[in-house]
Amino acid sequence: MNVSTSLNVFDASVSRPEAVRRCAATGFASLDMNYWDFQKDVLRMSPQEEEAWARDIRASADAHGVRFTQMHGPVHGPCFAKLALDLGLDDYTKLVERSLRTAAILGVPWVVFHPTNVTGEEGEAYRDVLEFNVGFYRKFIPLLEATGVGIALENLTDRRHIRSYFSLPEELAELIDTLNHPLAGACWDTGHGHRQSVSQTAGIRTLGTRLKATHIQDNDGVSDQHILPYQGTINWTEVVQALRSVGYEGDFTYETHNSIRNLPDGIRDSGLRYAHDLGNYILSL
Ligand SMILES: [Zn+2]
Repeated sequence: MNVSTSLNVFDASVSRPEAVRRCAATGFASLDMNYWDFQKDVLRMSPQEEEAWARDIRASADAHGVRFTQMHGPVHGPCFAKLALDLGLDDYTKLVERSLRTAAILGVPWVVFHPTNVTGEEGEAYRDVLEFNVGFYRKFIPLLEATGVGIALENLTDRRHIRSYFSLPEELAELIDTLNHPLAGACWDTGHGHRQSVSQTAGIRTLGTRLKATHIQDNDGVSDQHILPYQGTINWTEVVQALRSVGYEGDFTYETHNSIRNLPDGIRDSGLRYAHDLGNYILSL
């Protein structure tokens, strides 16, 4: 398990090839490409332009001896009925397909997606939401098989008084088991689990061998803060022991932009070096 970070520790003013170089220089050998931050830009690109963009990022990773082990795919919004950027479901489907092809260029084995409710209204039936998500993600299986890229579905959290299905590990496990394909697995977001009051041990052990990716982030148990470990209230010994107990083979991948991206650019690299040391400390527990 390597300590890894999402490239979203740098805002868009830093090119992705340069972000790769700086993460590599501060000690990271594994990285996560955050496609989500660029989905608006990608929609303005031709497929050829997107391919050239991805090849430049891949070239930087190869030149600096780092590998992409995860990517955050495009995000559709809080539910399928209210898609981000006013996209229709067909347009969002095409964007997912583009992101999977870009992941293949980057050499990414697992792309993280959000399974969500459909209408977003109170009282939606779990079985209907499960069936919709199974149908939606199953459509990509031929492309997953053609590219060898897998999808890792992430635990989210309830929204105020509305249950957001698949935020409980049992529900997420059922979705993945129903998809029943070796290229469909889970991503455990430690901060979302904490906010949902699911213990790290229960979340990680329930997902077990389905777990292919992680979003490592801390919070106070109330808001979704995306900060570095020990800046919130998660028990990190419990996280690392649970990951080991299920034989997790992926990386310890930070999604902690709020601890780094908000720093002045001149001190971000020091922040990244510290984050890398901190991750290795946790992995030694
Ligand atoms: Zn996450």
